[in-house]
Amino acid sequence: MKVLILTDVQNDFLSGGALGVKGGEEILPVILRLIPRFPHVLATQDWHPHNHCSFGNPWPIHCVQDTWGADFSPKLDRTKFAAIFHKGSDPNVESYSIFFDAKGQPATGIHEYLQTRKWRDLYFAGLTTDYCVFYSVLDALKLGYRVTVIQDACRAIGDAKKALAHMKEKGAQLVRNLL
Ligand SMILES: [Zn+2]
Repeated sequence: MKVLILTDVQNDFLSGGALGVKGGEEILPVILRLIPRFPHVLATQDWHPHNHCSFGNPWPIHCVQDTWGADFSPKLDRTKFAAIFHKGSDPNVESYSIFFDAKGQPATGIHEYLQTRKWRDLYFAGLTTDYCVFYSVLDALKLGYRVTVIQDACRAIGDAKKALAHMKEKGAQLVRNLL
């Protein structure tokens, strides 16, 4: 079953946000066209307490729980999401991956959710190509999922090419213009 995973499409990662990604908005129209094409859409949120360990080093304060910055882009309709998963809620642990945190513990419960439903065909979109999408994709591959990265529905903070090449080398399929 094909599942679209929208990774951290949150105000703080878009322009005007605390950690705005260059060109982040460009993925929104692509994502809006993708959503109706998938039988299942899941979304994740970076969801930090006010004293999260990443604040100040290496990131500015961002995606604080229940604030505007942590909310989804207003262009997204959350009623289209079958489920929403939060990561980075522990003040002492960073979690780029939606599957495992930096200590190797389950980050969100998404793996169990997918396993229960036998959904194995994951399509990744969102922010950012070189952090949360990247680490989530590598973990998904390790867990045995079939993984596709929708390149034009992702943007990077740093080096997108390098991140994409690495994900491909590990077994992810890269696509663009999926529609
Ligand atoms: Zn974060």
